[in-house]
Amino acid sequence: MKCPRDGTELKKHQIDGVNVESCKTCSGIFLKKGELNKIAHPLAGDLEYSTLENMDPTRQSELKCPACENINMIDVNFLSFSDIIMKYCSECEGMWLDGGELKAINREIDKLNDDTDNWQHSLRAFTARLPF
Ligand SMILES: [Zn+2]
Ligand SMILES: [Zn+2]
Repeated sequence: MKCPRDGTELKKHQIDGVNVESCKTCSGIFLKKGELNKIAHPLAGDLEYSTLENMDPTRQSELKCPACENINMIDVNFLSFSDIIMKYCSECEGMWLDGGELKAINREIDKLNDDTDNWQHSLRAFTARLPF
């Protein structure tokens, strides 16, 4: 498998006991289906599902899937609302993260976990305003 950005041969690399393919030139990593949920910090809910449910298949990336080669990947925002743009392959359901994006994703998750209390509080406030 070759890096979709620079053509460097991807090497196996372990993150939290999960084997991913990574590029030593640009530090990008390729994740197979389900692997994002395993290597990212824990958050209530399914990260991949939450990321892909609002995917817009017309947002084609210039990057080709390293596993499928002739398939252009699709730009998807991590958890839909963040400004982290990951690449998703609709063929093999793999994902490409550029160098540093996994760190950014974990920062985002930590922030959400910290905000959970606030978030539940505002949800309660919202529910209290409903007329039933
Ligand atoms: Zn690379
Ligand atoms: Zn693919």
